[in-house]
Formats: sequence, structure tokens, C-alpha cells
Amino acid sequence: MISAERLLDTAFDEARLGLSEGGIPIGAALFDSAGNLLGRGHNRRVQADDPSVHAETDAFRAAGRRRDYRDTIMVTTLSPCWYCSGLVRQFGIGAVIVGESRTFTGGHDWLAEHGVRIAVLDDQRCVDMMTRFIAERPDLWYEDIGVVE
Ligand SMILES: [Zn+2]
Repeated sequence: MISAERLLDTAFDEARLGLSEGGIPIGAALFDSAGNLLGRGHNRRVQADDPSVHAETDAFRAAGRRRDYRDTIMVTTLSPCWYCSGLVRQFGIGAVIVGESRTFTGGHDWLAEHGVRIAVLDDQRCVDMMTRFIAERPDLWYEDIGVVE
């Protein structure tokens, strides 16, 4: 039995790595149903000067090509935005594990309505990391979620 918390550890490590690089601390990892890591990554909007490199897309691209995603699990430290929720639908990823959705709520309810298995862990480490980041770097945060102040 794979522990969702164990899978989240990899995504959380990616978020921490992103923070240490001066970026937005959101991490993700794609696993198969047996818990084998397929790809991992983090938001690199700042580092790559590319607003399309979200944690989920970074992990997804790192995993390479795959014929079928139904048995894969996308693990992300934060509720997936609409862009990343669209990626989950587009490729038919079967399950999403969300670290937390207190600091931001994206499309995970919408994904659940469309048959994606969703687990929101409400992980305190993830909440603390995002809460601190939003307080320290509101400019970067609102840029990332597309809110014009
Ligand atoms: Zn996203």
C-alpha cells in the first residue's frame, strides 16, 4: 500500500528546491500506480523566465512520453490551477494528490466531478511554506496566479 504522504514528500522536496532557487515554492511528481517515480519538478516561472513551467507541467514533461496515463498519480503541493487541471484532463491522469488547498483552490473539485480520484491531504508543511511565501513575496504570488493588483 502506497502512502499518499510518502508520495507528497517528493513533491515537497521539489517545492523546497524551487524556494532555494529564488522561485515560487510549488513542487510536483508523477508516479505510476505502484508508486514508482516517473518524473518530478517544480514551478520555474522565475528561474526559467517562463510562466508556463508550473510544478505539474515540469514533472509531467520530466516523465517523458507514455501511451496511457490512467494508472498515473499526479502529486502536487498545492491545488492545481486551471492550466494544470486541464493537463490532468487532457492526458487522462487517473488520480491527483493535493498537498493543500487552503492558500489556493484551483480545479481539483472540477477534476473530481469528471472522475479523477482526488485526495487533499491538508499537509501543514505545505500550508506553512505557501503562507510564508505569499507574505514575503506577494508580487510573485499574484503574478503566478494571474491576479492583477
Ligand atoms: Zn498550474
